[in-house]
Amino acid sequence: MAKNLVIVESPAKAKTIKKFLGPNYKIEASMGHVRDLPKSQLGIDIENDFEPKYITIRGKGELLAKLRKEVKKATKVYLATDPDREGEAISWHLLHSLKLEDKSTYRITFNEITKNAVKDSIKNAREIDMNLVDAQQARRLLDRVVGYKMSPVLWKKVRKGLSAGRVQSITLKLICDREHEINDFIPEEYWSLDAKLEIKETKDIFTAKFYGTQDEKVELKNEKQVKDILEELKGKSFKIAQILEKERKKKTVLPFTTSTLQQEASKKLNFTAIKTMRIAQQLYEGIEIKDEGTIGLITYLRTDSTRISDEAHNNVIEYIIEHYGETYANRDHSQNKKKEGVQDAHEAIRPSYVHLSPDEIKGSLSRDQYKLYNLIWRRFVSSRMMPAINIVKSVKIDAGNYRFTTALTTQLFDGFLKVYKEDEEKEDKQSISKLNDTSKLKKMEMLDEQHFTQHPPRYTEASLVKTLEENGVGRPSTYAPTIATVMARGYVSKENKQLFPTELGEIVNEMISSYFDGVIDVTFTASMEKQLDDVEIGAMEWKDVLRNFFPNFEKKVKIAEEEIEKIELKDEETDIICEKCGRNMVIKMGRYGKFLACPGFPDCRNAKPILEKVEGVECHKCGGEVLVKKTKKGRRYYGCEHNPECDFMTWNLPTSVKCDKCNAIMVDKGKKLMCSNDECKNVVSKE
Ligand SMILES: [Zn+2]
Ligand SMILES: [Zn+2]
Ligand SMILES: [Zn+2]
Repeated sequence: MAKNLVIVESPAKAKTIKKFLGPNYKIEASMGHVRDLPKSQLGIDIENDFEPKYITIRGKGELLAKLRKEVKKATKVYLATDPDREGEAISWHLLHSLKLEDKSTYRITFNEITKNAVKDSIKNAREIDMNLVDAQQARRLLDRVVGYKMSPVLWKKVRKGLSAGRVQSITLKLICDREHEINDFIPEEYWSLDAKLEIKETKDIFTAKFYGTQDEKVELKNEKQVKDILEELKGKSFKIAQILEKERKKKTVLPFTTSTLQQEASKKLNFTAIKTMRIAQQLYEGIEIKDEGTIGLITYLRTDSTRISDEAHNNVIEYIIEHYGETYANRDHSQNKKKEGVQDAHEAIRPSYVHLSPDEIKGSLSRDQYKLYNLIWRRFVSSRMMPAINIVKSVKIDAGNYRFTTALTTQLFDGFLKVYKEDEEKEDKQSISKLNDTSKLKKMEMLDEQHFTQHPPRYTEASLVKTLEENGVGRPSTYAPTIATVMARGYVSKENKQLFPTELGEIVNEMISSYFDGVIDVTFTASMEKQLDDVEIGAMEWKDVLRNFFPNFEKKVKIAEEEIEKIELKDEETDIICEKCGRNMVIKMGRYGKFLACPGFPDCRNAKPILEKVEGVECHKCGGEVLVKKTKKGRRYYGCEHNPECDFMTWNLPTSVKCDKCNAIMVDKGKKLMCSNDECKNVVSKE
C-alpha cells in the first residue's frame, strides 16, 4: 500500500520514475499547469499592488479531484515537477489547488531521471523555493500586462485579433531592423586575382591568391587596377619567398546549453527550436529502451550552464579511454568554472548514461530522437577530449613587386574531432604539401574575377537564438516559444531557413517601436531579465519588478491610444469590381498583408491579391506598370505587370529616377539610389 504520493507533470516522466521508487510510492501526473491567470480578463488587480487572480485551468477540475483523492490516502506528498522556475511554480500552484498546506509536502528536483538522482532527491527533499516561484510570477505578470494592454492598441489601430508580447516584440524588431539594413545595403565591387602555378619538379598544380606588395596588403577595387597589375606581371617569374609551418590547436567544444543545442540542431539537423525542445523533452522524461526499460536519456534540457558533474566527468573519461585510447582523454576538469549571469546550479545538457552510445540504442528511438541524442552524446563525449592539432603551412610567393599567398592545413592529431565535427572541412590543396624552399614554379594562368560584397545575412532560427542570448534577451525556456509565436502570428515568415518580416509584421513593429521605445527594446528587456534573476536569488522583491515597470509603460499605452492615426486599414474601397457579384472590392489586412476582398462577405466570398502599382514608375524594359508583389511566404518584391513576358524584378522599392549609365530603374537604398540592373549596379546619392 503506497504511503507516498509523487506528482510530476507528464505520464512519461511518471513511468520513468516509478521503477526507481518501489511500491511505497504512487506516481501521478498533473498534465502540466493546473492554475493560471484567467484568459478572459487581465487577472491582475493593479490597484491592489498587482495582486494576481489565479484560477483553475478549464478542464483540469476532474484531474484535480482525482489528485485530491490520492492526496487523502497519502502520508507524504512529493512535488517533482521540472527543476526550473516554471517547474517550481507548477508545484506551488499544485500546493494551493490540492490544499497541501497542512500535509507533509516536499519539493524534490532532479537534473536527470536516473535511479541515483531520483533517490538522492528524496533524501534532499525541501520546501518550495518561493524565490524561484516569484521570479516566474513576475515574468508571467509582466508578459500578461504587456500583452493585455498593448494588444488592444493594435486592434484599434491595425486589425482585430492581433497580439503583441514583450519578448516577441523585441524579436520582431531584430528581424525588421535586419531587413532594413539589407534594403539599405549597397554592394561594393571588389576583385580577386589568382595565379595558377605548377611545381616544375613534380608537375603538381596549385593556386595562390593575390595578397599585395611585399610590404603591404592591397585591396583590389576595380578592373583597371587588376589589369594594370596583370600588365606589370607579364614576363615576371614566380618564386617561393617563404614557407612557414606552424602548429595550431583547434579548441575542444563545450557541452550543450539550450541555446547552443538549438543552434546546432538547426544547422545540422534542420530542426526548428520548438522541435528540438519537444524531442529533447522526450529524451529527458524517459524512453522505453530494449532490455533496459523506460529510462531518461539526457539531463534537463533548459539550462545555460556548461558545467558537468564530477561523476559524469569521471564516467566519460573512462569511456573515452576505453573506446578511443588514453591520448584522447582530457582529464582537465577546470573548464567547469561558473559562467557570469548563469541562473542556477544546472548542468550542461548531456547523456545520463554515457555508455549508452547512440548506435547501441538506435533501435529503440524514433529517427528524430536518434538524431538529437546522437548530437548531444557526441558533443558531450568530445567536450572531454583533447584539442585537435593541425599543421598550417603558409607559403609566400613573389612575382615582380607583388606577393601571392597560399596555405595548407594538415591534421596532425584529430582529438575531439574524432567524435564531433563543427563544420565539414574541405581538403583539396594536397599538392601544396609537395612545395619546399627549392621548388621551381611555372605560371600556368592568371584568373581574375569581379565580386560584390554581400549584405548582412537574414537571421536564421539558429543565429536569432544566438543573438537573443548574446543580448541577454530571454532565457533558455523562452527562445523557442518566442520564435514560434512571432511566426504563428504572421509577423515573421521563413524562406529557405531565413526569417523576414511580413508586411503585417512591419506595420506592427513600426507602431511598437515608435510608441513603446524604452520599454520594448533590447537594452530594457535585458535589464528586466537581470531583475528576474535578482528575484530568483532573493535580492529583489518580485512585485518591485512590476512596480518599476508599470507606470512608465501605462503612460506610453495612453499616448499611443491617443496619438496613433488609424493606419489606413479600415476596409478601404477600391474601383475594382467583384467579378462574382458586382460590388466594389475593399482592401483588407490579412495574415501576410493586404489583399482584396468582396464586402459582400459572407454571401460572396471572393478574395484575391491586390494589384498595387508603384506610382510614377514605368518598367524600363517594356514600359509597363511596376507592381507590388509578394512571394508565397509573404515577402515583398516588385515586378513588371507583363511578367512572365517581361522579367523585370527587384527586391527594393523602384523610384522614378533612371540610371544615367544604362537607363534602368534606380531603386531605393536608404540614403542612396542603386541601379536595378545587376550588370551595372551604378550608385548615386539621393538629392
Ligand atoms: Zn463579390
Ligand atoms: Zn516590363
Ligand atoms: Zn545602370
